[in-house]
Amino acid sequence: MVVRGTIMLVDKFIDLASKAIGDTNVITYPKELEKYSRDHSLVKPGIPSCIVRPGSVEEVQEIIEYANKLLVPITPLSGGTNNLGGTIPVPNGVILDLKRMNRVLDIDVRAGMASIQPGVTFEQLQEYASKHGLRALTPVELPKTSSALSTYLDLAPLYGWVYYGEEILTTMTVLLPDGTLLKTGQQAFPQIKWPYVHSHASPFAGLMNYIWYQSQGTLGVVAQGWVKLKPIHEVVEAFFVTVNDDNDLYKIAREIMWMRYPRDMVIFNNVDAALFFEDETPNYGKKTAELIPSLPKWVVAFTLRGRKEGVDIMVSDIAEKLQGIGYKLLDEVPGMPKAKEIFLSEVNYPSGWPKYSKYRGARTILPFICSLKDVPIIHQALKKFIEKHGFSTNYVGVTITPTDRVGVVACNVAFNREIQEVDKIRNLYYEVAEEMLRLGAFYSRPYGILAKLMYSRAQNYYEVLMKIKRTLDPNNIMNPRRLTLTEDL
Ligand SMILES: Cc1cc2nc3c(=O)[nH]c(=O)nc-3n(C[C@H](O)[C@H](O)[C@H](O)COP(=O)(O)OP(=O)(O)OC[C@H]3O[C@@H](n4cnc5c(N)ncnc54)[C@H](O)[C@@H]3O)c2cc1C
Repeated sequence: MVVRGTIMLVDKFIDLASKAIGDTNVITYPKELEKYSRDHSLVKPGIPSCIVRPGSVEEVQEIIEYANKLLVPITPLSGGTNNLGGTIPVPNGVILDLKRMNRVLDIDVRAGMASIQPGVTFEQLQEYASKHGLRALTPVELPKTSSALSTYLDLAPLYGWVYYGEEILTTMTVLLPDGTLLKTGQQAFPQIKWPYVHSHASPFAGLMNYIWYQSQGTLGVVAQGWVKLKPIHEVVEAFFVTVNDDNDLYKIAREIMWMRYPRDMVIFNNVDAALFFEDETPNYGKKTAELIPSLPKWVVAFTLRGRKEGVDIMVSDIAEKLQGIGYKLLDEVPGMPKAKEIFLSEVNYPSGWPKYSKYRGARTILPFICSLKDVPIIHQALKKFIEKHGFSTNYVGVTITPTDRVGVVACNVAFNREIQEVDKIRNLYYEVAEEMLRLGAFYSRPYGILAKLMYSRAQNYYEVLMKIKRTLDPNNIMNPRRLTLTEDL
């Protein structure tokens, strides 16, 4: 009988992997394993048995073959920056670190498309694109060290750019859990000239891609993808609207969005505004805490991009529209002198949660989508809940990226790892998530404990999902336990 991931089988796996990809690319030093055992989240750490670092598609295929043969679970990792336990391995599991696969393979400047490997970070893609007069779309809350490919795969439709939508990844190469290489969309047809064309009307592209969106490494390894880049404009300006009345937030956001002018748009509550628009000085956390009470309840921030004359017209149109509803277009945030400079820099090279975690040492996130109208209600409920359990409302940050249809919301609770807060926050997490679900929050990416919350309410959907998992990954070697809280299929 073969027992999943026993020490003997893992030893054999290490031996085979070392022969296939070189022993310097199979890491077993305890200090290095420890680094991969945890993330910024509240998820309990788990030490991997080894880290394998393949450098090519063929090497990944070999690793997958051995994992199947020896029933060793593997967890793909591209940037390693996700923060809800997505890359924490199961016992005796192996980390498949794809950072060595970090090449931009091709670019079509006229089409604004680049073909990238999973190890390409946002910073790298941004620098590469800028040399060709283009820019990469980066989500403001992520660190620039996140993998562009893995993030685009994971975010749609959680994150969206108000002007460009959420599907930035068009066609891709996937290594299925049995090692089969699959190309989606036009890439599947070598004779077709434009390998990146994504056609929703075709079952070969959109439909196929969706199976791997947000699959958290459970259905295969994405080894390449064509991603959209955008032009660099002559003029880029940042603007702000401050809002103190919850009832006006939806109206303001909608009016600005519906003009279809802003290219990047983010809404912050006062806590996240303080964290976002403050410089990372040694005093960062302390200064932030002092700032929060003096800031407006909400800050709506957006960029306008285009030719000088075009931007001028947009500015006057938006200013007029806002004036009509009693608001002003600002080019700075009162009390935050560097807001403009920081916003323009963050939309290209984001600092992400490592910066915000400096406020109280750590920060946990509840990501969901909801109607923009419901945001203030959910926010108030969360603040009350947090206060009832002895936390300050100054620890509750909210960042929203509005898209055409919904608000994409990240509720962030800052906490301190050194005092007894960790257990308390961990215990509250599920309860808060459940309460917010009742109020209209939808967890479109049910990570970790949220999987239980969501799938227990959608039995039929969950059964079909498990059927897909069983069909594609009969040995259950690909990042087990991510789609469910148990290892059973
Ligand atoms: C507004 C916002 C909110 C966010 N909220 C959260 C959040 O709440 N929790 C969170 O964890 N992240 C969150 N993210 C991060 C994001 O969704 C991705 O998890 C992250 O950007 C992935 O980048 P990474 O390179 O660090 O991936 P990694 O940390 O390396 O991996 C992320 C997940 O994808 C899988 N994976 C990685 N590479 C591949 C690959 N090549 N093929 C197949 N599977 C792969 C991994 O196994 C893992 O499950 C948020 C981002 C934004 C912008």
